[in-house]
Amino acid sequence: MTHPSNSNIDIVKSNTSKIENVDFDNLTFGRTFTDHMFVCDFIDGKWQQPKIMPYQAMTFEPSARVFHYGQAVFEGMKAFKDDAGKVWLFRPEENHKRINISSARLAMPEFPKDYFLDGLEALLKLDKDWIKPGVGNSLYLRPFVIATEPAISASPANMYRFMIICSPAKAYYSGKVRVLFAEKYSRSADGGVGFAKAAGNYAAQFYPTSLAQEKGYQQIIWTDASTHEFLEEAGTMNIFFRINDTLVTAPISDRILDGITRKSIIQLAEDNNVPVEVRRVPVSEIKEAARNGSLKEIFGAGTAAVISPISAFEHGNEVFELPEMENAYATMFKKELLNIQHNLSDDKHGWRREVK
Ligand SMILES: *Cc1c(COP(=O)(O)O)cnc(C)c1O
Repeated sequence: MTHPSNSNIDIVKSNTSKIENVDFDNLTFGRTFTDHMFVCDFIDGKWQQPKIMPYQAMTFEPSARVFHYGQAVFEGMKAFKDDAGKVWLFRPEENHKRINISSARLAMPEFPKDYFLDGLEALLKLDKDWIKPGVGNSLYLRPFVIATEPAISASPANMYRFMIICSPAKAYYSGKVRVLFAEKYSRSADGGVGFAKAAGNYAAQFYPTSLAQEKGYQQIIWTDASTHEFLEEAGTMNIFFRINDTLVTAPISDRILDGITRKSIIQLAEDNNVPVEVRRVPVSEIKEAARNGSLKEIFGAGTAAVISPISAFEHGNEVFELPEMENAYATMFKKELLNIQHNLSDDKHGWRREVK
């Protein structure tokens, strides 16, 4: 894979590092940021000179369009360090493709692939000490784009800022996740923006999720907006069901985000001769499978937690507890993915990309 050198990025290095003050064994997800950030502005119809600078606060006019109309999209990805000190990204071209799919839906300009990949690599080279080796440690990377133009007429902006910030992350043990199947609220609708990583999709989930949390559930599993009869996704994760030995997950649509973890798991399942069915998943089928014992596992899949097993769900005021599984698919696929990400196993699909 060839790409231009990083020499086309203006770099201002931080004079000091905050790293000595960070307790890497006790990180709260998403609260600590590295010494540098990547910034590139879109002005007069084109992306300007990309820059890396010390992580710092920024100023915007109160009229910046992002504050009023929510033109904002983001990505979530991770960098890993192997025991030899090499730094790896996992399928970063997929994140680049997806941020542009998200941007297009929000009438925002696409970001060039070489800027995206070179920006990541240059940033990771500067902040590589923030990536700790060992399975479970990673550097969470947050590329995002916001509309910065100071104007409050309701139309797409003419100015945007693309940025990447980085946050060290520890193995994320979600514990036992109990979920509520959505019966009233929806996160996305036909023709809407559910397939985009649009900031507003998250804002819209916070209130219904807080109601679920008051009832003792950590997450909502979203159902289709028109009938609430089909299970779609976990909101920040895609969702898988294991019925007997078959893995079942909903097909991608304009309501469901095309998760990179999801498609990697589908591929790993095929590699392991685990039968996979990508099809609509009726709530009634999952409840019946829970009653007759054929429902073995439910798990969420996404970059942050990789795989997050679900121990119980509620629907129609009925609570279903899932059995503890030996040889769980959740455990197996999580291990396989982590081993590929950390350069501990063969990468036969070419998913790893070394940061040199
Ligand atoms: C980011 C996200 C996912 C998971 O995608 P990955 O590429 O696997 O991290 C799933 N659902 C939604 C709504 C998301 O925003």
